[in-house]
Amino acid sequence: MLVQAESLKRIVSAILEKGGSSNNESQVVADHLVRANLAGHDSHGVGMLPFYVKMLKSELLFPNQEPQMEKTNGSIMMFDGKRGYGQAVGKMAMEQAIEKCRETGLVLMTLRNSHHLGRIGTYGEQSIEAGMVSMHFVNVTDHFPLVAPYRGSDARFSTNPICLAMPGTKKQSPVLLDMATSRIALGKARVAINKNETLEDGLVLDHKGQPSNNPGVMAGYLYPEKEDNPPLGALTPLGEYKGYGLALFCELFGGVLSGGGTIQPGNIRRDSIINNMFTLLINPVKLVDIPWMQHEIEEITSFCKKSPPADPEEPVLIAGDPERLKEQERKENGIPVDKTTWEQILEGGETLGLSRIEIEKMN
Ligand code: NAD
Repeated sequence: MLVQAESLKRIVSAILEKGGSSNNESQVVADHLVRANLAGHDSHGVGMLPFYVKMLKSELLFPNQEPQMEKTNGSIMMFDGKRGYGQAVGKMAMEQAIEKCRETGLVLMTLRNSHHLGRIGTYGEQSIEAGMVSMHFVNVTDHFPLVAPYRGSDARFSTNPICLAMPGTKKQSPVLLDMATSRIALGKARVAINKNETLEDGLVLDHKGQPSNNPGVMAGYLYPEKEDNPPLGALTPLGEYKGYGLALFCELFGGVLSGGGTIQPGNIRRDSIINNMFTLLINPVKLVDIPWMQHEIEEITSFCKKSPPADPEEPVLIAGDPERLKEQERKENGIPVDKTTWEQILEGGETLGLSRIEIEKMN
């Protein structure tokens, strides 16, 4: 089914409010999730809601938290997210970092112990809106590993995302590279399972470390309560040892330097998701002449885009373009929500005391 972004936001925020979030928090989280769907990242959109409901019930996610400043020294800001909704504590920590960066030109902000931060591109967009450049390295803990290291055959770390953001100009939209360091995010396997689709070559390994096309090898992580899941497999890192190296640096920057810890087995894992984020924020005004910077951004991106496409149907894009194109399309036509995901959202709402009829009425 196709659901309009505004309806979906209303439904998600009503469920979140039933889960104890303030009106403001439920709007922030719902907005983040729906924007992820609009950008085409259904893996990080409203489909996460049932998991959040489960985490609320298990007291592994706490509503209405504010990031707590643990240390600050010059341009360094270290926050603890207190297991709050990552979308909310992440936004607040970024706001404080952006404010400081206006004076200092450079801020190193870390946020540890935050529940799922969602689509990391949202924080890149926040810095772009403030005219700033940002880099984010994120690791995932409190969760069993999902991705095999290069040359390995079982999972040793998570889909550790990296985001790099550069403001745009009048002629060129912002450049936003926002990616998992695995070939695909776990949520993409969830979407394929829910739609009963197979995966392209090279994205997952089976339990023996052999290449597979079956998203079901990841089902044991997503639906551990089901008894007929195939044996557990693993996702593959992007770009072989290069992506594996980047994922390891998400552990080292995001996990170690934030004080949050890595996914090494000595640290506790409760089938939840904790994200630790390392963010470098740069105010380009303090470095270069802005009209010159804009000229260079326009020239280099247009130089890339003018490369004759190998397939005439597929022109060269700039990171951030696929999400912008998807957003345009989904704002017009609505957001596709598959049956399984819709059912899981309804069940999540019911668990918190919002009936199916009440939810359906909001659509
Ligand atoms: P993806 O592979 O769809 O896109 C990755 C990047 O590549 C994007 O910046 C996109 O604009 C760019 N891109 C795509 N096609 C392109 C093309 N043809 N030319 C130029 N650039 C192109 O994204 P993904 O790796 O599947 O990640 C999905 C989302 O999952 C991200 O938003 C990420 O932040 C999120 N994520 C979050 C967590 C977490 O723990 N919170 C973990 C993993 C991933």
